[in-house]
Amino acid sequence: MGICTSSTGQCRPHQSPVNINTKKVKHDSSLKPLYIYYDPKSSRRLVNVGHCFNVEFDDTNDKSVLSEGPLTGNYRLRQFHFHWGSSDRDGSEHVIDGQQYPAEIGEANPEIQNIIENLDKVKSRNKECPFTRFDLANLLPKDRNYWTYLGSLTTSPFLECVTWIILREAIPISSQQLDHFRSLLCTAENEEATFILENHRPIQPLEDRVIKSSCKNMVYKH
Ligand SMILES: [Zn+2]
Repeated sequence: MGICTSSTGQCRPHQSPVNINTKKVKHDSSLKPLYIYYDPKSSRRLVNVGHCFNVEFDDTNDKSVLSEGPLTGNYRLRQFHFHWGSSDRDGSEHVIDGQQYPAEIGEANPEIQNIIENLDKVKSRNKECPFTRFDLANLLPKDRNYWTYLGSLTTSPFLECVTWIILREAIPISSQQLDHFRSLLCTAENEEATFILENHRPIQPLEDRVIKSSCKNMVYKH
């Protein structure tokens, strides 16, 4: 995948996140189902990276991989993280039919609770703690239908190297659990405390891109 930015003048910017207009999405019957195999034994640590916290995995071999779908080859699981907003009204990066979501307010999620019980150990920037036997597959929704398009990282350096796959089913999270995320600090231990109240990038223009869906007439499930 090439990196193309507006500064090269060769093509229009392909940044993320974007609004997914479900009426303009094209169903692509050649899109395969996603193959997700995540081994809980590969989970390693929680790390506060300043703008969010990462759950990191051992990616030295093909133990935990994502493949098929729109992808070519195996993508090893290295880390995952959440985005949130200062209130429960927003926080998601991708927006569906103009509607922002906070990740989706619902019942307390047991997998997220497992993470939250360890967040105190990584309250300030650069703190980390061991975090093992985390089952990411359990956190993901059962419905594996998805939207896909080519875009970018949503944090610096915003490289346009990402095949985005957005599952159509929301992951429930409670208001209280989101409050725990907002209690993390973007500052180091010896600095004046500043909370990570929000960490989502605003939507970017879709330009000439077409978003594809894995099934017909796909709507958001929440
Ligand atoms: Zn992110």
